[in-house]
This record gives sequence, C-alpha cells and structure tokens, in this order.
Amino acid sequence: MLSNGHTAVFVGLVLMLSACGEPTPTQAVAAAPAEERTFRWKLVTTWPKNLPALGTAPEHLAQMVDVMSRGRLKIKVYGAGELVPAFGVFDAVSQGTAQMGHGAAYYWRGKIPIAAMFTTVPFGLNAQEMNGWLHYGGGLELWRELYEPFDLIPMAAGNSGVQMAGWFNREINSLADIQGLKMRIPGLGGEVFQRAGGVAVVIPGGELFTALQTGVIDATEWVGPYNDLALGLHEIAKYYYYPGWHEPGATLEAIVNRSAWEELPDDLKMILETAARAVNQDMLDEFTARNNMALKTLIDDHGVELRRLPDDVLARFKELSAEVVAEVAGSDELARRIHDSYMQFRSDVMNYHRISEQAYINAR
Ligand code: CA
Repeated sequence: MLSNGHTAVFVGLVLMLSACGEPTPTQAVAAAPAEERTFRWKLVTTWPKNLPALGTAPEHLAQMVDVMSRGRLKIKVYGAGELVPAFGVFDAVSQGTAQMGHGAAYYWRGKIPIAAMFTTVPFGLNAQEMNGWLHYGGGLELWRELYEPFDLIPMAAGNSGVQMAGWFNREINSLADIQGLKMRIPGLGGEVFQRAGGVAVVIPGGELFTALQTGVIDATEWVGPYNDLALGLHEIAKYYYYPGWHEPGATLEAIVNRSAWEELPDDLKMILETAARAVNQDMLDEFTARNNMALKTLIDDHGVELRRLPDDVLARFKELSAEVVAEVAGSDELARRIHDSYMQFRSDVMNYHRISEQAYINAR
C-alpha cells in the first residue's frame, strides 16, 4: 500500500507527464480517489472582465470555492472574448471547452426559446419571487431538465433586482416614439418591444457603448444605475427611463458541464452549489446597496435626466407581454410545463405579496 504522501507524488507525476503530452497510464489516474485530486476549471462569461457585480460575481464564486475546498477546486475566470465570445458561452460549456460558464439564460433564446423564462419575464416575478420559484417552487428542477440534452447543469448565480427601462437620446412620450426605434433589448422583453413597433437587437454588454455611440442602435437597456454607470452609458445618452418592465428581477446563471460535474466528489459538488447560491444572493445585496448611490451620481454629477415611461406605453407593453408569454410555450411539452409552473407561481405569489410586500411598501 502506498501512503497518502506517496499517492500524491505519484498522481503529481502522472499529471506532469500528462501535461507534457506523454502517453499516460489513464487507469492509474482514474484510480486516484476523487477526494485527493485537484480540479482546475475554466469559467467563461458573457461579461466584460471584472465588470462590477455581473463580472465580479464569478470571480467571487471562484474565490469562495477555492477557500472552501482548500484549493481542491481551482476555477479561472475568463471575461467575454478572452477564451470564447460572449455569446459562445453556452456552446463552450456544453462541449466541454470550458467546465463552467456565467451568463444569462435568455441569451440562448434563439436555441431554446423557453430558456428566457429562467432569466426574467416582462411583468413577471421580481428577484425575491424568482428565488422562491427556483428553489422552492420546482423552477430549478425544470431548468435542469431543459438543459439536460445539452450536458449542462444550470444554477442561479446572481440577480439584478428590478432593472431600468434603459437609455434613450430622445424622449418617449407615446407609442409613436417607439416606432422604428432600434434598441438593444434581449429576452422576451425584446419580442414585446418588437411587436410594439420597435426593432429589438441583442448585443453583449461590452459592445453597448460603441454600438450606441456609432448609431448602430438608437437606445439600449443594460441593468440598473450601478452597472450602467460602470459601462459609461450616460456619456452617450441623455434620458434614463424607468421602470424595467422587461426585466423585473433577472437571474444570472452558472452552467456546469455534466462530465466535469460528475467527476467531482460530493463535497466539491456541494461547495460549488453553495457558492452559487451565495453569489446569487450576494449580487442582489450589492445592487440593493449601490444602485441608489449610483443613480445620484448619474443625476447630480453627470446631468442625466430621469424619466418614467408613459402609462399608455407601459399598458401596451403589458398587453403584448401577455401575448408573448402565452405563445412562448408553443407546442413543446416541457416548455408548456415550464410556462405553466412559472405562471401558476406568479399568480400564487402575487396573491400573498399584495397583502405583504406590496401593501407594506405602499404603507411605509
Ligand atoms: Ca437588462
């Protein structure tokens, strides 16, 4: 019998040989207990490297996992475009190019239309309600079933809270001002905007500034004051509209490649899930603490003009949202179950929140 020390040296030698491209005794590697292995993962993201909140969340996750696992699971985070393009994250993790990714499910709507519901739904659940649905209302199980054919395991890993409606260079006084307006607005909100007469486009966060500056788009939404200030959007647009009808509590996702996941011993699996859950709440806490200060900076220091979307525009968006959400399930059986689960939860939670959260906010 080898002692633990000898085993570690032996495994180290095998890994070195492996790194040198020498033929390796693969059975010997496989025989090394998973508890003694060090896993080195790549995590690709849809965000600019270290963008506040969205980009720092996966870094934070990697740090937590490193400490909690005593260095047995090392995760290196790549910003958008460093290893794969922003919107290449899903395929890269699905194919195992990277073991893990961080982004948002609605970016994959072209591939899986119903995936958008796992980020956010126009006039849908807020952050608190979304977390309730995912973790205690069956949402996460449905999400995992949806991603199963892609060899991906999704987890909630961040939430923006209610977003802002976006940045415009002209005032929106009625639906007429939406006609032909080219706006960056992803997810189901984009579909609604399109039906209202606008032109919806989807481009990654890191490209927004240039797209708006060069007139590729007329308007854009991003997240909220804290994130939008970091991107500098106030430098190229004057009017900042609320409320974020299209993204009332967007969930960010962590995705893990199934084979990489299955190699992990149980403790590392639990550490990873716990870290994702912590980051999920932590991001919301950070936005809650910092959005208001950032909004003050935007208005007081940068002269941004805050505007509320007119009632008739919001009413039309709401009407169209009901249409779009009703259609999103299509004829697919799983999509139907996801849609029904979400909408039932929405109806139930609204019933209670009317006399709790909502009544309280109105009363205070
Ligand atoms: Ca957004």
